[in-house]
Amino acid sequence: MSDRSLACDVLVAGSGIGGMSAAVAAAQAGADVLVVEKDMTVGGNARWAGGFDIESDSFGGMRDGNPEGDPDLQRALVHDFPVALDWLRSFGVKLVPDPLSPGRFNYHPHQGLGGIRMFTTLRSRLEADGGRILLGTGLAHLLTGDRGEVVGAVCSGDGGVLRVEAGATILATGSFSRNTEMKVRYFGATGDRTSYYGSRHHDGDGILAALAVGASLSTGVSVSTGGCVFAPPFEPPDDLREFLGGGSGLSEEERRMPEPVPSGVQRLSLRPPIWGDEPSILVNLGGDRYVDESSRYTVIGWATTGQREGLGFCVFDHPLYVEFEETIEVARGWGARIVQADTVEELAARLAAWRATPSYNEGVNPRRLVRTLAEYNLEARGGRLHELWPPRREGGRPINRPPFYAAPVVQGVVDPAGGLRIDSDARVLDRGGRPIEGLFAAGADAGRAYTREHGGLAFGLIFGRRAGGNAARSSSGGG
Ligand SMILES: Cc1cc2nc3c(=O)[nH]c(=O)nc-3n(C[C@H](O)[C@H](O)[C@H](O)COP(=O)(O)OP(=O)(O)OC[C@H]3O[C@@H](n4cnc5c(N)ncnc54)[C@H](O)[C@@H]3O)c2cc1C
Repeated sequence: MSDRSLACDVLVAGSGIGGMSAAVAAAQAGADVLVVEKDMTVGGNARWAGGFDIESDSFGGMRDGNPEGDPDLQRALVHDFPVALDWLRSFGVKLVPDPLSPGRFNYHPHQGLGGIRMFTTLRSRLEADGGRILLGTGLAHLLTGDRGEVVGAVCSGDGGVLRVEAGATILATGSFSRNTEMKVRYFGATGDRTSYYGSRHHDGDGILAALAVGASLSTGVSVSTGGCVFAPPFEPPDDLREFLGGGSGLSEEERRMPEPVPSGVQRLSLRPPIWGDEPSILVNLGGDRYVDESSRYTVIGWATTGQREGLGFCVFDHPLYVEFEETIEVARGWGARIVQADTVEELAARLAAWRATPSYNEGVNPRRLVRTLAEYNLEARGGRLHELWPPRREGGRPINRPPFYAAPVVQGVVDPAGGLRIDSDARVLDRGGRPIEGLFAAGADAGRAYTREHGGLAFGLIFGRRAGGNAARSSSGGG
């Protein structure tokens, strides 16, 4: 391994939406920018995502959804959202309003394709302003000066160890959704039961590097966001596994094509029938409902992680099966266990015999499950589902048309709701709430605006842009 060293004004770790927004903004502000990316392609999970939204387009809505969040950051999000979208459009990125979700703007009607295009555009923009990208190179730890200020980082990759001296460093490595130890530490004991789909590099590198130099975490770090997915032993076939594990559903050749077909991305729509106001219910191992099934997908996912064994069971009847038949049968073919029975009592008996894990000795409580369904159907017939506990506010009808089905589900984590504590300039704060000189964070590595909802692409874009501009100003080359 050869050791090399480089110097730049602004070092960015990660080339997803947070990192590339930061890099382009810093280069636009006149800084000499170097991006290090652990993967062999640019774009992170954002390459596979579909569109930007801020969960709520008003400050009040943002506070309702995330009452523990920092009001300054929430104001910044609402204020910057349209500005940041226009900024992206100014480079030629096409953003189309989502006809089904008001306030959401998609890169492209087809997930995957638009992401690749958007990152090709951002990369060209960065390089036109003199920025550089080193692929296959991951930030390992931060370098500090006499006063504890961050003065660069040590990176490593196939090319050996690289020491980078930088006026400012921006962490945007996509957080720790793949790091089981961190998921248990922050999400709780059932964190290791959550599933993950996305880049294989979301190991928490940025957060761990920042904690080692005295950074602090925002409260949202203890909430995992993401909806429910079929529980293991659900085993996607190899081509999808490559996508899931490697962040790549596309061959090298497809990647170079202007319109590749991202089959792996399409298949991620393989979800159990819980979304929206589908007439299914969710019960836990105790046989009880535990969440309003008409809640946002992130609420349902987090509630499931909070159950014993981090497990839920999506229970539905034949009409919903018919609607979702294709999805369910593909999932079943990939190992998802779908329990089926002609009566509710038989379904309950089968679930009682079902074992979540080899270490777990009980199945679902059958008596409770039968009672839960009977109560639910009674209130559904009377139009009183909102009076149940937990209340169901929207959708729902009696689940009474056999055969009956149950699919075990876990949360599929996308990102934690929070990350490193930042201020509204995207500066990372230490445990005393003071900015750590020379250190910024963006994307899922950063937090403090959202505490229960998912910041996603919009948070990455908005605070990436802020991080880049401010890092350029604070470093020598940005003026
Ligand atoms: C399939 C899918 C669909 C999604 N759809 C949506 C959607 O429609 N809307 C939405 O808002 N969100 C969506 N999301 C979530 C969204 O993609 C993320 O919230 C967003 O990408 C987070 O931005 P980021 O920059 O923090 O991370 P990423 O975009 O994932 O980028 C992080 C990058 O850092 C790199 N990295 C990791 N460690 C290091 C290191 N040590 N050094 C250097 N580089 C490193 C990674 O390889 C990666 O390229 C989706 C996610 C997935 C997986």
